[in-house]
Amino acid sequence: MKIAFFSTKPYDKKFFDIANEKFGHEITYFESRLRRETLKLAEGFDCACVFVNDRVDASVLIALAAQGTRLIALRCAGFNNVDIHSAKELGISVVRVPAYSPYAVAEHTVGLMLALNRKVYWAHSRVREGNFSLDGLLGFDMRSRTVGLIGTGKIGECVASILRGFGCTILAYDKFKNPVCEEKLGVKYVSLDELFAQSDIISLHCPLLAGTRHLINLDAIAKMKKGVMIINTSRGALIDSKAAIEGLKSEKIGYLGIDVYEEEEELFFEDKTFEIRTDDVFARLTTFPNVVITGHQAYFTEEAVSAIAKTTLENITAYEKGENLVNAVMPD
Ligand code: NAD
Repeated sequence: MKIAFFSTKPYDKKFFDIANEKFGHEITYFESRLRRETLKLAEGFDCACVFVNDRVDASVLIALAAQGTRLIALRCAGFNNVDIHSAKELGISVVRVPAYSPYAVAEHTVGLMLALNRKVYWAHSRVREGNFSLDGLLGFDMRSRTVGLIGTGKIGECVASILRGFGCTILAYDKFKNPVCEEKLGVKYVSLDELFAQSDIISLHCPLLAGTRHLINLDAIAKMKKGVMIINTSRGALIDSKAAIEGLKSEKIGYLGIDVYEEEEELFFEDKTFEIRTDDVFARLTTFPNVVITGHQAYFTEEAVSAIAKTTLENITAYEKGENLVNAVMPD
């Protein structure tokens, strides 16, 4: 199948070229993100292969359909950047990679917790400068701390499993209880308000939907413990960033670790070293000593990237052969 591959990075090309030896698709790699201004690149391609920050809204889909694109192959799990209702109306199929390595994201999540708690990022730069003082580096034992997980799907379950090893008390809120979490990992399901009130650490693992946008807002933060740690490796807009800044200024939020940011599409995955930063909210977040930000790298392990390549190409092959699309994304 002819595939227009958007938002290409050297590592994508490496892993997809290896995986494609088995499938033999005709892949053309474009560095550009897919959006209105770049969609002409997809002309004559059956499939547009996209990532988290490609913008596949209704207007892009209408133009893609007119150009002959019949399939959107997401090489990620989240699909909040695709208007799936419009895709269905236009007869464009959408497939995704629902699971590649929940361990990758879960391990990075816990990495952020530990980095913030033990201030590894401060300690590292201090030692390099010859400052061996421990002032300001005091952490806490994870054992017996209460962690609240919002969303206990594949990633939330892995986070629970790691934290169980630390001896944490694990609370969770999800629309659907995960029996493994409840019966094997000792997770206690509570209401969202209870989770906010009781958790020392709150970690977000639910999808970004209309109902979860700004789930962490001023009201929610007001219900949390003073000094709470908030971790977000899910999707940026789950947190109202301006509310988080207020929470950090008032010291209600004691630690913030984010791998995703609501306006990340203009920032992440690119080297902006020599560019003037225009996002004042992001700039303010980077000034806090108790905020750690990574640029959407939680998924980025060898195992995850090769699994993404394999499943994406399997999805495309299944479409080409007219087989049942097990990883299709459908409107509710
Ligand atoms: P999943 O579908 O297995 O689990 C999501 C869970 O959220 C489900 O149990 C679902 O019931 C629950 N949920 C849905 N609506 C909810 C709500 N309103 N409140 C609470 N829970 C709710 O997904 P997953 O594989 O565990 O991934 C979770 C999220 O992680 C994805 O949505 C994606 O956005 C994000 N993600 C980030 C990265 C990264 O690199 N940072 C990589 C992969 C996935």
